[in-house]
Order: sequence, then C-alpha cells, then structure tokens
Amino acid sequence: MPTVRKLSIATKLLVWSGTLILIFFAATVFLFRQVRNDAETANRLVTVNHEVDSAIQRMLDRLYGVRDNILRYRLTESQEAVQYIVADLTRFGEILRETLAKHPEYAEDWQPLKEEFAITLRPGETAGESLAPDATVTEWTDILEQGLMDNQGDMEVAMTRMREAGERAVTVGLYGLLLCLALGIGGSLALAWSLNRSLTEVRRGIRALGTGAMPKDVRVLAGDELGELALAFNAMASRLRREEAMRADFIAMLSHEIRTPLTSMRESVDLIRSGAFGEVNEKQQQFLDIAEKEAVRLTDLLTRLMTVSRMESQALAVTTAPVDCVELAKSALERMAPAAESAGITLSGDFPDQPVSCVCDRGHVRQALLNLIGNAVKFSPSGSAVDVIVRTDGENALFSVRDQGRGIPESEREMVFHKYYRDPGVRESVDGAGLGLAIARRIVDGHGGRLWLESEPGNGSTFHFSLPLGGPKETP
Ligand code: ADP
Repeated sequence: MPTVRKLSIATKLLVWSGTLILIFFAATVFLFRQVRNDAETANRLVTVNHEVDSAIQRMLDRLYGVRDNILRYRLTESQEAVQYIVADLTRFGEILRETLAKHPEYAEDWQPLKEEFAITLRPGETAGESLAPDATVTEWTDILEQGLMDNQGDMEVAMTRMREAGERAVTVGLYGLLLCLALGIGGSLALAWSLNRSLTEVRRGIRALGTGAMPKDVRVLAGDELGELALAFNAMASRLRREEAMRADFIAMLSHEIRTPLTSMRESVDLIRSGAFGEVNEKQQQFLDIAEKEAVRLTDLLTRLMTVSRMESQALAVTTAPVDCVELAKSALERMAPAAESAGITLSGDFPDQPVSCVCDRGHVRQALLNLIGNAVKFSPSGSAVDVIVRTDGENALFSVRDQGRGIPESEREMVFHKYYRDPGVRESVDGAGLGLAIARRIVDGHGGRLWLESEPGNGSTFHFSLPLGGPKETP
C-alpha cells in the first residue's frame, strides 16, 4: 500500500488559510510602512523644505531691496533710501534668526550671513564701498540662492523617492493580491480535488457494495479522515469477503452432503412407486407423489444453491452459439406451462414474426428466463396473466416478462437482485430461497447485457433483460 502523508483535513485547511493570511499580512505591513514613510516625507516637504523655501525667498526679496536702495542712495543720496535699507536689513536679520531658530541645521551653511553688515552712510566718501560693500550683498544673495536651489533639489529628490516608493507599493500590493488570489483559487481547487478523489473512491466502493457484488478494496489516497474512512471500508470489505467465502463453502458442503442421500431417497420412492416391492394402493401412491414432489423441490433448491456458490467462486462459463431467441422463449413457456396451469395463470407469448438471432449461451439464457417466468407465476394471483415478450432494437435482443401480481415497491427494486433476499411478506407463504434473480442477473451480466425491472405496486411487474445480438464482448 502506498505510504500517505498524515495530514488531517483540518490541518490542510489551517496550513492553506495560514499561508493566505501570512501573505496578506506581509503585503499589508509593507503597504502600511510605505504609506507612513510617504506621510513623513510629505510632512517634511511641507514643514521644512517649504518653510525654508519661503524664508529664503523673503530674505532674498529684502536683499534685492537693499541692493536697489543702495543704488538709489548713491545716485540721489536720499535719506528715504537709507531708511529702506535699514528696514530691509532689520527684517532680513529677523527672518534669518527665526529661520535658524526653527531649522538650526542651516546654521553652518548660513554662517557668513550672520556677520554684521557695516553701512557707512557717508556719500562723500568713496561712493559705494564705504556705503555698503557690494561684495557682501552679492555673497549673501549667492548663499541664499544656492540654499534655494539646494532646497528645491532636496524637494525634487524627496518627491522622486516618493513616486518610486508609490510605484513599488503598487507593484508589491498587486503581486500580493495576485498571489493571494492564485493561492486562494488554486488551494481551494487542490483541496476540493483531493477531498473529492478520496470521496469518489469510498463512494465507488459503497455503490459496488450496494449492487450486491463481492466487496472490493478501495484505494487509500490520503492520510486524512477520508483516508481513514477508506481504510475502515477496506477492513469491512475484507471481513465481508471472508464471511462470504465461509458461507459459500458451507453451502457447497451442505448441498453436496444433502444431495447424495436425497438422490437415494428419490430412487427408493421411484422403486416403491414402480411396484418393485409389491402392489401400491391409491392412498400410498398419493403419499409417494407428495414425497416425490418434495424431493424434487429440495433438489431444485440445492441446484440453485450450488449454482450460486459456483458462480461466486469462478467466472460464469459462457459457451456461445447463435440462438433464435423466439424459439428459446417458446421452449421456456412450454417448460413453465404445467406450473402456470396448476396456479391458474394464463401464460402467453408476444413474439416478432421473424426469428431474433442472438449469440449467447442457450442453457444459461433459458435458465434466466425460466427464473423470471417462475417468479411471475409464483407472485401472481390465480386467474391473472403472464406475458413473455421478445423484441430487438437492432443491436440487442430484448426479453420482457410481465405479470399482474402484487408488484414490487420502489425501496425493494435493487434489493430483489441480491442473493438470499426475499420480501418479508412472502417468506412464509411462497416457496423460494431468494436466488432466482441473483442467478438471472449474473447470467445476463456474463453476456454483457442488462437486467432491470419496472413495477407499479398492486399493478404487477415487468422484468426486462437485453443481450447484445453479437454476443458478449471479449474483456481484455
Ligand atoms: P425467490 O423467488 O426464490 O424468493 P428471487 O431472487 O427470484 O428469489 O426473488 C427475490 C424476491 O424478489 C422474491 O422473494 C420476491 O419478494 C421478489 N420478486 C421477484 N419476482 C417478483 C415478481 N414477479 N413479483 C413480485 N415480487 C417478486
């Protein structure tokens, strides 16, 4: 037996859903971290870069003002220009202090901006240089413009990073989703397939058991609960096979043991009846007839028991030859006529005008037909009719035996083909061993045909069987 991994259905489900949850969780954590990083970057862009950017802009505006007013003062020596210069420089200094207080990381870069700006507002002296050193204004402007560019560069880099991170997050999220989807669909399909495979095996075994056939082992395909079910089924099948074999042996032995003395008894009765031991009076003759009838009945029963036990132990030996089904049915009717007559039943045939030739084992098929007609006669009330019909559909010969008896309820329609099955309602009143239909089915199956019944309780039953006209197909 192949070794199977021991994983219960619950464990399989747990592993599968655990993997799904893990992937989902990992993707979510990644996305969450990404969103948090983006939020931080956006926050920095707004609170640091944007603030610094606007502060630099404002400081530059002041410096441009200073530069313009110095120029104006040189030309006009206007006191108003001096006031503007002072106001601009004062404001510049304030903005610088505020910005450095908030963002001390710029202190080093902007160190030169903190140097005092010396203004000597005496235009008589060397114009320009003593008034306000152009170089200082230009240096400060350069530093701030450079700062502005650096800051914008920083912002661009941060935004590029944000965009890339966003794209990465979309990719990871998409792959995570696809993986979850693939695992979800693939996993559930694989799980359903594996459960279904095991279930199909067990179902096949149970169905086969239901047909009354010898129970066969099913394959154990998994180490889960369904695998255990298959193992339990196999244990049961094996026990049933053992019991069936013992029963068949016992019946064969018993039949054999009874048959020999029964034959001696029949011969003795025959001898007495023939007058070999003196004249037999009418009363004695009557009792000898009863003894003979009972002995025949017993022999018939033993023959059936032995037939079934033989059929169980070996494949049905079918010796085929072309047979006319109409002639075969007529001969079966003839054989059953006395029994039908004594039961007060009218036997009739409904046959096509042309012979229906079929390759089959004449003896076996006749036996199957006799069993069906025998049942129809047994289970029909006196005064009713039993019809035997033969037809062909071009591929099969079709036999039907129709009666007007008590019918067979739906719940019993499969059971009646089981060995030894007899309706509890007829066990006491009607003779039989519950073997006729089982034998008929084996014979029809052995020919590659089909035996089935239609019935309406209270309105009679019709048993049909089909045989392939060309004979049973060779099984490889
Ligand atoms: P037996 O006739 O020896 O009892 P069978 O295998 O031939 O065994 O039939 C099994 C059971 O099926 C019968 O006991 C009877 O309950 C039912 N049965 C068979 N044929 C008929 C029929 N034509 N009408 C009603 N019941 C039937």
